[in-house]
Amino acid sequence: MDAALRELAEAATGFMPPDEGASLYKAAAGVPAGGLILEVGTYCGKSTLYLAAGARTASARVVTVDHHRGSEENQPGWEYHDSSLVDPRTGRMDTLPYLRRTLENAHVEDVVTAVIGRSEQVGRWWTTPVGLLFLDGGHTEAQAQADYEAWAGHVAPGGALLIHDVFPDPADGGQAPYHVLLRALDEGFREESVTGSLRVLRRVD
Ligand code: SAH
Ligand code: MG
Repeated sequence: MDAALRELAEAATGFMPPDEGASLYKAAAGVPAGGLILEVGTYCGKSTLYLAAGARTASARVVTVDHHRGSEENQPGWEYHDSSLVDPRTGRMDTLPYLRRTLENAHVEDVVTAVIGRSEQVGRWWTTPVGLLFLDGGHTEAQAQADYEAWAGHVAPGGALLIHDVFPDPADGGQAPYHVLLRALDEGFREESVTGSLRVLRRVD
């Protein structure tokens, strides 16, 4: 992976350890030329930079979807809240300005298209086959399942499905992404690799 981009990705605000980021990069770099990488859960663009670096290698493109209002666990009073991401005018989370800076600083605005909206809505309008789907949005059971339902069907045959924050042991974290993994394994995806909480699957049906 491009060293400058890796440095920027590691320094960016967000939730993607370097080894899992490297795995994201590798999967993205393997997307067929001209292909599309779809990320659900942009936040400030940390994981997006790893995907963008892979997209450059692969001559692919990234679309990243987020309403930029934060997940449940990002809200004030919750474990993963960052008060510097609150819009003082409204008191609500707004990560979009930070995402724009992340993409601009890394010079990847030509590779990445940000879509601002609810994942499940955008997924319903979507029609383009996806070469790599990365699920890292809301982690409630309902939201994680809704994201899978909205997007998994768009993964092209032979395409990749990446799921973040998979914790088989409830002592390590929430179970929703793990339940999505089990469902995907039951519905035509085969597991290829595990790096930390990141699972890489391949559509085989
Ligand atoms: N991939 C990021 C972390 C994503 S955090 C990184 O590497 O740092 C999860 C993100 O999902 C939050 O930014 C939140 O706003 C977004 N999100 C949660 N529910 C959503 C929904 N229904 N539609 C769109 N985005 C959603
Ligand atoms: Mg995550």
